[in-house]
Amino acid sequence: MVTIKGWQKTSLIDYSPYTASVIFTGGCSFNCGYCHNPELVVHHSAIDDIKEKDILDYLKQKKMWVDGVCITGGEPTIHPDLPKLIDKIKKIGMNVKLDTNGSNPPIIEELLRRKLVDYFAMDIKNVLDKYDDVAGVKVDKEKIKKSIDLIKNSGVDHEFRTTVVPGLVGKKEIFLIGKMLKGSKKFVIQNFRGTRPLIDSKMQEIKPYSMEQLEEMKEIASEYFEKVEVRN
Ligand code: SF4
Repeated sequence: MVTIKGWQKTSLIDYSPYTASVIFTGGCSFNCGYCHNPELVVHHSAIDDIKEKDILDYLKQKKMWVDGVCITGGEPTIHPDLPKLIDKIKKIGMNVKLDTNGSNPPIIEELLRRKLVDYFAMDIKNVLDKYDDVAGVKVDKEKIKKSIDLIKNSGVDHEFRTTVVPGLVGKKEIFLIGKMLKGSKKFVIQNFRGTRPLIDSKMQEIKPYSMEQLEEMKEIASEYFEKVEVRN
């Protein structure tokens, strides 16, 4: 059973252009200092589980108005039963978007083989040799590379996205990430936000990049992707 700790019945922004329900799973394989969902990463065992059945019943009732489901976290792929949950959602007739940090390629491989996901959004935390500085844990980079390859070559719609943080990820890193992901469809540059409680409270003192700096990064990345988007 996937541990579900949060549920937003409808959202217009998490799986645009669809009206989507958002499912938040508990627990994560990373511990990023800038994580905006510390309650799902560090304190998830203190939150009551939401029953899968309640969500599935709601989706069945509302399928005229809800087109898709975004599964996010935490990190959804740490749950071995994720394919089973997605299979049930697909059988209702919903499109599924999966947010992942790419740490569990065997699950991504299974989801692809069974054609269960319509859109992947994979976080790229940093250039590989500085990944741990952002992820806050020792990351198996071979697994990250495998997930990138799987998603990039899947034929399934996808985006890779990087949160840019002054002092950790900047123009040089965006250039190197662009080279690493070259040929991928879409890349999203997300600005760091320190306005909410973060896992590393010291990071709240970091001043985010300006729009001008983000546009410079976009220009650098544009050489490597069909489409680059900035989210400020
Ligand atoms: S991978 Fe995502 S959910 Fe996990 S700690 Fe990092 S930002 Fe938070």
